[in-house]
Amino acid sequence: MTVSSPASLDALTREGETDRTSRLGRLIVFTGPSGVGKGTLLRSLRHRYPALKLSVSATTRSPRPGEVDGRDYFFVSRDEFEHMIERGDLLEWAEFAGNCYGTPKAAVAKDIEAGQWIILEIELEGARQVRETFPGALQLFVLPPSIEELENRIRLRGTDADEAIERRLQRALVEIAAASEFDQQIVNDDLEVALQQLEDAIFSD
Ligand code: ADP
Ligand code: 5GP
Repeated sequence: MTVSSPASLDALTREGETDRTSRLGRLIVFTGPSGVGKGTLLRSLRHRYPALKLSVSATTRSPRPGEVDGRDYFFVSRDEFEHMIERGDLLEWAEFAGNCYGTPKAAVAKDIEAGQWIILEIELEGARQVRETFPGALQLFVLPPSIEELENRIRLRGTDADEAIERRLQRALVEIAAASEFDQQIVNDDLEVALQQLEDAIFSD
């Protein structure tokens, strides 16, 4: 990292300090191919547990219909994103399907300090960066029941152009091949079953 981390983030880098006896919050990384249902699962989970916080990422991608700046993402230009990298404002960042995505560091540090449990919904490269920096974070990976079903879900969601769908599917194969790097894998076939597995993973860890 180019700037020194807040004390809370430094503590998270030391494995074993993120248990429930710690006054610090904890970091949960949630990864899986685009369209697998991460957003859907997290919306349901947060409905049940409003105290769980979701980190709001910065992205150079354009907003989808219904997405709100500052709630779903901070939508920024490529220049602004590069400045964030240069200033060391990002905990991790990666390029995905032609756009940049990154986690603002300051907000996560503040939440951890305040004892919050915070979820980072990020792609594989970002998850790998977090694993290096914060080995105490819980890393979860969501799998689709099949590639065909994944493609169906991306198409049914109707938010991506054909070219973007193709890029997302290619990337999905790479991500799925790395699923075993994660602490736990959850197959999102039946939504309720997956949600229960997610709850168990988070609260029994
Ligand atoms: P992600 O956030 O991983 O990109 P989304 O949450 O946007 O994925 O889900 C992609 C699409 O799949 C959405 O249309 C959503 O309603 C649908 N979906 C999510 N989970 C399931 C499931 N278990 N069964 C069927 N469809 C699902
Ligand atoms: P989408 O464009 O579908 O919202 O997101 C595309 C991918 O970027 C998803 O896999 C999502 O998890 C990931 N992503 C979202 N925010 C971040 C972030 O801050 N960092 C990284 N590395 N990936 C992110």
